[in-house]
Amino acid sequence: MTDCIFCKIAKGEIPSQKAYEDELVYAFHDIRPLRPTHILVIPKKHIASLAEAGTVDEAILGRMLAVSHKLAAENGSAEGFRAIINTGRIGGQEVPHLHLHILGGREPVGAMVS
Ligand code: 5GP
Ligand code: ZN
Repeated sequence: MTDCIFCKIAKGEIPSQKAYEDELVYAFHDIRPLRPTHILVIPKKHIASLAEAGTVDEAILGRMLAVSHKLAAENGSAEGFRAIINTGRIGGQEVPHLHLHILGGREPVGAMVS
């Protein structure tokens, strides 16, 4: 998708602080971190949200989760982390390109929903 900010980040057309990359996913530090560790993992393929993902995307979805612990551990959250995928209006999704938030640090993340 040509005017998607996260597609542009995945392609390197918009700068980001890269944390990880492979053939399916790209990970980078959130520009407005909510915790000391706040990384976003996105598919390189444009998928607007989890509502638009299907069984055809199983490998991508699996990879997003499979790299999450390594990313958390390498970025200051070795004792655990929270993984969040906001989806659509009800889920509070702001950027319409699927992304997994990895939140953590040295203190517990806190209440799951406030
Ligand atoms: P959402 O609310 O859609 O689940 O989360 C979107 C996240 O993307 C927010 O945490 C926001 O700070 C982050 N974000 C939005 N634009 C950019 C950007 O240009 N660069 C980076 N690194 N993060 C961004
Ligand atoms: Zn996109």
